[in-house]
Amino acid sequence: MIRIPVAEAELLALVAAHDRRWLDKARQRTAEYRGQGHYVEGSEFWGDIKQVYIELQHEKCAYCESRLAGRALASKVHEVEHFRPKSRVGAWPPATGKGAVGFIPPCSVGRPSTRGYYLLAYHPLNYVIACTRCNSTLKADSFPVRGRRRTRASTPQSAQAEDPLLVYPLGTLDTDPARIIRFDGVLAVPRRKRGRDHERARVTIEFFQLNHQDLTSRRARLLGALWLALRTLQLPGVPDDLRQLQRQSIEQAQSDRAEFAACARDFVALHGSDRKRADALGGMALRLVAG
Ligand SMILES: [Zn+2]
Repeated sequence: MIRIPVAEAELLALVAAHDRRWLDKARQRTAEYRGQGHYVEGSEFWGDIKQVYIELQHEKCAYCESRLAGRALASKVHEVEHFRPKSRVGAWPPATGKGAVGFIPPCSVGRPSTRGYYLLAYHPLNYVIACTRCNSTLKADSFPVRGRRRTRASTPQSAQAEDPLLVYPLGTLDTDPARIIRFDGVLAVPRRKRGRDHERARVTIEFFQLNHQDLTSRRARLLGALWLALRTLQLPGVPDDLRQLQRQSIEQAQSDRAEFAACARDFVALHGSDRKRADALGGMALRLVAG
C-alpha cells in the first residue's frame, strides 16, 4: 500500500471537472438517506466518477497495489470500493470463507451492524479503486474498528474517532500506510513492534491477505529484477548507457505508478543500509521465481 496523494479540495475539483452535476446529486442523495436514517438501494451513480480514482491511483488497487487492466477498455475490473460499508457491516474475521479465518486479532475489532455508514455512501473521501480480490472477496462489507462504531458519521473525518483498523490510503485523512507497514523482501510486516500502529498493520495485512502467495510470487519477480539491476550498478566496467538504464528502471520501480511500489522502495532502502540482508532477500526472490 502507498499513500495516494491528493488534497480534499483537489479531489472535489477533479470530481466536478469529470461530472459537473455529481457533487450536487451526491448531496441530494445523502440528504434523502439522512431523512430515512439508513442507506436505500436505487440507481447508484458512484461509478460515474470511477475514472477520477483510476487516474489518481495509476490503475492500481489501493490495497494490494496490483496493476489492473486498462482504464479505457477494461474499466469493469476497477471496482469502486466504499472504504466504510454503506448498507451494513459484517462480522470480521469471518468464521468461513477466503478471508482471515482463524486469525486472532490483537485488539477489539468492533461488532457487526445492520446499519452501514449510510451518510458516506456518496462521499468522495470514502472511495478508492480496488481489485476484485481485495474488494469483493476479502473486504465485502467488513470494517474492523477498535472503538465505538460511528455509522451515523456524516464525514470521514468525524468517523475517524471510531479508531479504524484499516488504513485509508487516499489523501491525508489517515496515516501514510508506509509508516505502519513495511516490506521484508516479499513479505508485508508491521513497521512497529507493538502499540496501535502495530495492531493496525497486523489487521490490515491479515484482512487483505497481503502475504498470500498470489501476491508474494509476483513481488518476487519484481524484487529479483530489482536486485539484478542494483547488482549490475556495482559491477566494474558496466557501460554508461547500461548503467543509466538500470538507474532508470530502479527509479521507475519505486514510483507511484509502479506495481508494488511500497515493496520496491523498502528493498532499495535496505540495499543501501544492509547490503548483506538485501542480497540474501534478492537471492531468495530469484529462487522463488525459478521454483
Ligand atoms: Zn487488491
